[in-house]
Amino acid sequence: MSENDVIIIGGGAAGLFCAVQSAWLGKKTAVIEHMKKPGRKLLITGKGRCNVTNSCDAETVMKNIPRNPSFMYSSLSRFAPEDTMAFFESLGAELKTERGNRVFPKSDRAETILNALVGAAEQAGVEFIYDDARKLIVEDGRVKGVSCEKAEYYAQKVVVATGGKSYPLTGSTGGGYKLALQAGHRVTEISPSLCPIVTEERHCAEMMGLSLRNCTLTLHDDQTGRVLFSELGEMLFTHFGLSGPLALSASAHMDRITKGRYTVSIDLKPALSHEKLDERILRDFSEYPNRDFSNALKKLLPSKMIDTVVRLSGIEPYKKVNQITRTERGRLAELLKDMRFSVRALRPIEEAIITRGGVDVREISPKTMESKLVKGLYFIGEVLDVDGYTGGFNLQIAFSTAYACAADV
Ligand SMILES: Cc1cc2nc3c(=O)[nH]c(=O)nc-3n(C[C@H](O)[C@H](O)[C@H](O)COP(=O)(O)OP(=O)(O)OC[C@H]3O[C@@H](n4cnc5c(N)ncnc54)[C@H](O)[C@@H]3O)c2cc1C
Repeated sequence: MSENDVIIIGGGAAGLFCAVQSAWLGKKTAVIEHMKKPGRKLLITGKGRCNVTNSCDAETVMKNIPRNPSFMYSSLSRFAPEDTMAFFESLGAELKTERGNRVFPKSDRAETILNALVGAAEQAGVEFIYDDARKLIVEDGRVKGVSCEKAEYYAQKVVVATGGKSYPLTGSTGGGYKLALQAGHRVTEISPSLCPIVTEERHCAEMMGLSLRNCTLTLHDDQTGRVLFSELGEMLFTHFGLSGPLALSASAHMDRITKGRYTVSIDLKPALSHEKLDERILRDFSEYPNRDFSNALKKLLPSKMIDTVVRLSGIEPYKKVNQITRTERGRLAELLKDMRFSVRALRPIEEAIITRGGVDVREISPKTMESKLVKGLYFIGEVLDVDGYTGGFNLQIAFSTAYACAADV
């Protein structure tokens, strides 16, 4: 086999995009992928619809990157969300923008995005090699190639685009961190982000499967007294705690979780003030004044929640509603506006959307993604210690870093 100019390890979002750009610039490019097909993770993004970017400016993307946003400044300035959109549209993948500026393919199918990338790569002559990268070949501070399970491959430029450690069945098994360490790079602590939350309270299990569409979830750091996140949207109760978009987003704001540090508060009635909610409860109660309390919440709450709310309210379940005191009613309203859960942990990294931590960006050039330690070696995408919130920001990180790299290799 003749030597390639560029070898990209990992055929995910970042690797495929980098391969297309590099081949378009006339470089003989190969992608090494250890799964049977490239882009397995892309197919499950956005619940199979692929939220490919966020239709906003580069500055807004940076505001949605909690870790090392300034590292992204240069690459985002050169390749912003509008460029991502233009790129996919130019390949015939029509896009649409939804709530929160989230951009999806019009087909609502992630395959549209993956096929566009793989199709463009194949057309540009990118070679796909199915092998598992095990070791970088480095001589005199310069990369020479990569040693894989089946063979060694040589190139003057090697790009590590192996992704993070979440959803390992898609191929993102964390192999890139080993390659980085072996090349002398620091890898910061790896932990889950955009991940379901395990709560101390057991009553989430009683409400398991219940999905709330219009609630506000607020995350408090009780150590500093600060509110870290507060948003209106959807969430889900599970056997271990909280999941769904709001819980995943909140998880990205937690750092080191210690007992009692983080509290999640759910406002079940965000559209009503305390006073309005009290009026509403009073109105419901006065319709059937002789009803037991436990039977009086059907109009107000989903049925799966009623037993739990009744218990947490401390109001006797068989008390007639016309005997419920103003103080008790106040307690109920308080509970519905501020149902609290203590965070015990996040679920394991395998269940996270994103890996927090990765190749230390202080050792990477933000302009080119080249290693400052080994010449010709590059790192792009999720393997880097950069992560974004939900909304298409993580794929944008993959594309922007890949573009910066492709222009240099
Ligand atoms: C369920 C889910 C939903 C998501 N939804 C969205 C969304 O809608 N929008 C968004 O912006 N982000 C989303 N993300 C995050 C997004 O998928 C990632 O940020 C993005 O895929 C990272 O791209 P990457 O190319 O760096 O890594 P990956 O896409 O993980 O690709 C890495 C590739 O490298 C290969 N590889 C790994 N090690 C080796 C090795 N040693 N040798 C050879 N090949 C190797 C892997 O098989 C894989 O193909 C989602 C993630 C998950 C898990």
